[in-house]
Amino acid sequence: MSTLPHLTLLTTGGTIAGQAASSADTTGYTAGALDPSALIAAVPGLGELAQLQCDSLLSIDSKDMCPAHWLTLLARVQHHLARPDCDGVVITHGTDTLEETAWFLHLCLPPGKPVVLTAAMRPASALSADGPMNLYQAVAVAAHAASANQGVLVVVNGHIFAGADIVKTDTQALDAIDAPARGPLGAAQPVQFYHPAALTQAGCVPADALAGQTELPRVDILYVAAGSDPDLLAAAIERGAKGIVLALPGNGSLPANWQCAADAARARAIAVIRSTRVAHGRVAHATDTMLPAASGALNPAKARIALMLALAAGTPELSARLFA
Ligand code: ASP
Repeated sequence: MSTLPHLTLLTTGGTIAGQAASSADTTGYTAGALDPSALIAAVPGLGELAQLQCDSLLSIDSKDMCPAHWLTLLARVQHHLARPDCDGVVITHGTDTLEETAWFLHLCLPPGKPVVLTAAMRPASALSADGPMNLYQAVAVAAHAASANQGVLVVVNGHIFAGADIVKTDTQALDAIDAPARGPLGAAQPVQFYHPAALTQAGCVPADALAGQTELPRVDILYVAAGSDPDLLAAAIERGAKGIVLALPGNGSLPANWQCAADAARARAIAVIRSTRVAHGRVAHATDTMLPAASGALNPAKARIALMLALAAGTPELSARLFA
């Protein structure tokens, strides 16, 4: 009788399952073309790490991932984690929106059995494809006892990251996924955690807030460049946005001519969050109560998800916790 852990491999597509016409082509390919058995076949030794059961959920490029997919994925992950014969879940995903899916799952899943996302920058058909090693290491991390109760993890390029911390920092480089503020939690081979994940927000969204939901409230991100017209805000609300995240210059600095539009949104009870278009650093909470709330450590894409979930849950306490 095997004592190997039982893991579920949930596939969603991405470059890790991508196929190009030429092995030299790393940009012109179809993401999500390969099925799970082809992914596994490319990774010798996987069967010595864990007993894998496959669940092929999606076959998409992660640029097409949307909130309805997140909710479906969450339900599948919860289903597998609840099975007594499942010791953890590994999810393959595209790198383009990996940070959004990882952050969403981090907020919705209480720490427990390991949940590990992985991805690749080169399609499976490429010379020196990075997917097979990333998948091997993701399975090794998910199979390791130290990975339990660490929140959602991301394993790429030899690193273990906290899912909440990652961003995509390069369009084409192999080391395109990074955690600029906190760095990696550990190394994937051999599996070693240098420090524990920050778990204050892990699983903080009450499960009943999303029960039966197939969509999340619409939240739009508006990128504010020098001289951008504040009419954008009213237009987003007219089109049905229930919340707005502003990707503002600097420390979430609201241009003077946007204040009126922000006030109008507030009068209509539309939540507005000040985030930043700057790659690094927090947006500080302001004492001026007429300013929209700050995003804290969250970039615009993550602030959008936090606001969607806060609106879905409808509790002000959750908002305060998400934008701490
Ligand atoms: N466009 C691809 C995706 O996100 C990129 C990748 O996986 O690296 O699915």
